[in-house]
Amino acid sequence: MNFEIIVRKKEKGEVVSEKVIKEVEIKRAETILELGFRHKEQVEIIGAIQGEYLPLQVDKISEKYQFCPKCEGRSRKNGIQYADYHSSLSDHKLRIQGYACRCGWQKRPTIHGEYRTSVHPDLTKMQGILGAKMPYKEAEEILEKFNCHKRSANNHVKIAECTNTIGSILSKIKSEEVVESKCETDGLYMYVDGGHVKDKDREKRSFEALLAAVFKADSYKKAANSNTAIPKHIAASAINDGGKTINKYTLDAAKKEGMSKNTEVTAFCDGAANCWSIVNSLKGHCKNITKILDWYHIRQAYDRAKRALPDYTEKLDSSKYKVWHGKPQEAVSKLDELTKELESAKMSDRKIDKVISMKSYLLNNIDKLVNYMERKEANLPYTSSIAETIVESHINTRFKRKQKMQWTRENAHNVLQIKTTIHSNEWNLYEANIDKQLIFKAA
Ligand SMILES: [Zn+2]
Repeated sequence: MNFEIIVRKKEKGEVVSEKVIKEVEIKRAETILELGFRHKEQVEIIGAIQGEYLPLQVDKISEKYQFCPKCEGRSRKNGIQYADYHSSLSDHKLRIQGYACRCGWQKRPTIHGEYRTSVHPDLTKMQGILGAKMPYKEAEEILEKFNCHKRSANNHVKIAECTNTIGSILSKIKSEEVVESKCETDGLYMYVDGGHVKDKDREKRSFEALLAAVFKADSYKKAANSNTAIPKHIAASAINDGGKTINKYTLDAAKKEGMSKNTEVTAFCDGAANCWSIVNSLKGHCKNITKILDWYHIRQAYDRAKRALPDYTEKLDSSKYKVWHGKPQEAVSKLDELTKELESAKMSDRKIDKVISMKSYLLNNIDKLVNYMERKEANLPYTSSIAETIVESHINTRFKRKQKMQWTRENAHNVLQIKTTIHSNEWNLYEANIDKQLIFKAA
């Protein structure tokens, strides 16, 4: 028995023509490799079907030029044009009829001329998603593997362009979005942090990307019990606008997680002023905000001091344990004692400064220090290690791995919009809107 894939053209119920796309003999598969079509064959089959389908659609484009739009007289055929078209899996050169009129009007239609692009939005979106996830050259390689051959439409420059296009569309959608709080929740957790991105502009060296992750207290408990990822909404921005964009995205993210005037928000942060200002921007939109300096960053600060003063790690640790047990004043006293000890030991100012800056870090955030041990024992969040993972996956890996790669604020912002949309599980929500922004309605 044979198996044929045939495309059939019909007009008014009558078969006009048929074409065999592929013919195979039905055999028992000796190995799993022969079970069904190979990946390459599948791509070729779709391409061949498109190859038969597209010319019929292109004829419809030509049809509208059979009459002159200027004088409405009948135009005459005037040369053939070959136009490029890139669908998600295949490239095509489409033969398009040109027309001219006695009055002087003439038209040589192209796909780009008709639709302002010769790339299908599905391909643009795929490139955008991959380009946000990995370096553009790696995305090019992945697409080449997936497509089984190199396509000029999939080169890294195009992928970079598409990533920016999709990211800027998402940025626009999010900036204009009106979010109403649904499914109100009593308690929300929020982590805010920033990461530095290498600037294309050498004089500026780097800029900061800010990120806020919001999730329900209930989700935290459930995820902790089942050891799964916490469903959350993430907001991120690299735009330098005094926090306007990140505040708007964060407020919307919190509303999507159910924040209302009755919601108690617990926010974790490393103590940086620009991070707290994002947290503060939620004031008036919720019942209250408890701010906690997160344990992860406290521990890091002590670790830095310990590296500078390896002979005093015990003293530094005993101060750290006071913080852990919710006794920040005692932690500060221990640092004062250590400072005196270092002074009488004639330590260098540079080393003493490590202890002094540790002390001012605690004092600057003293109202945000809690009993971390108690929180841990009560299975309440006390560290931003989750936020660190988010920052790591959103900012550090994409923007730092290749030191050579440099970014503009705008490009980094666009990449972040794609990443946060996917991690907030909102790609499907926005996709129709993205399509709408990607298309140009032909007249
Ligand atoms: Zn005319």
